[in-house]
Amino acid sequence: MTVTETPIALVGFGKIAKDQHVPSIGKSEAFRLAATVSRHGTMEGVPAHKDLASLRSGQPEVTVVALCTPPQVRYAMAREALEAGLDVLLEKPPGATLAEVEDLIALAQDRGRVLFATWHSRFAAGVAGAKAWLAEREILHGTITWREDVRRWHPGQTWIWKAGGLGVFDPGINALSVLTEILPRPAHLTGAELEFPSNQETPIAARLSFLSGAARIEADFDFRQEGPQTWAMDFETSDGRLTLADGGATVFAGDRKLSQGDALGSEYDGIYTRFARLLAERTSEVDLAPLVHVADAFMLGRRLTTDPFIE
Ligand code: NAP
Repeated sequence: MTVTETPIALVGFGKIAKDQHVPSIGKSEAFRLAATVSRHGTMEGVPAHKDLASLRSGQPEVTVVALCTPPQVRYAMAREALEAGLDVLLEKPPGATLAEVEDLIALAQDRGRVLFATWHSRFAAGVAGAKAWLAEREILHGTITWREDVRRWHPGQTWIWKAGGLGVFDPGINALSVLTEILPRPAHLTGAELEFPSNQETPIAARLSFLSGAARIEADFDFRQEGPQTWAMDFETSDGRLTLADGGATVFAGDRKLSQGDALGSEYDGIYTRFARLLAERTSEVDLAPLVHVADAFMLGRRLTTDPFIE
């Protein structure tokens, strides 16, 4: 069978586009990297455009784009792309506000376009197994520890510290995307503390409490972790303990290994496999649940001021 590769353009050619999207598109039989759209970033051998208008006029055969820009500029670009008749993949988070993403959902539906709001951590190797294991058990208590070094993962990214950039919720929302995927019962936030550096607009650390049924789930997000990085979850259940490590790639039920993988490894391969299916079926997929929890944290959270952050 001959597989036709769909030409796709990467819009916003920064760290995640280069580190993850390019390799996964390269491995995919469904897609071919046909263009980049970025003010500064280019890739040798791939046609480059400064904006979407230039892509449309120069390469009208490209009808699929992946938006890998920071969230603050995502809405305007997504709207422009959908109005131009393109199918759109959104990096996480899907937008800077909930209502703007609702607007994109309506626009995509109105125009018959595919909109795929990705949550890469949901494609971690152990997430599906963790979900299946928890589905048959009652959770008594859960803890989430998502601690990483912002200087290592977001070098020079000033947007992350500006309103709408989410600060520590940029990685924290990955944990929430896994949590909302694997919990048998929905959770809601009951309290939060957010620590803001005195010189920045977004938090550097956050502690959150949720209830899922009768189970309390505590989350600890921190951008100040040097040395080994921690992306882990633990659930005490009526029938043993479930542990997720490496962002959901490695999962243990008690001493039994359900999955073993590397953090981020193959997540983006899974994203492009799913996107190909959504395009074939002409179906959109947008789940706002992780972003709802972040919005709730900003709404309900107590704000503390901490030391200035200087990169
Ligand atoms: P990045 O390295 O800063 O790249 C973002 C790119 O977007 C820039 O290279 C920039 O390219 C373009 N851009 C367009 N308008 C911009 C603006 N007003 N301000 C800044 N950049 C603008 O960021 P990233 O790490 O790739 O993150 C992009 C998205 O991917 C974020 O939503 C993030 O949450 C998500 N993500 C990041 C990671 C990670 O590990 N870094 C992991 C998973 C997901 P031009 O200047 O050339 O236009």
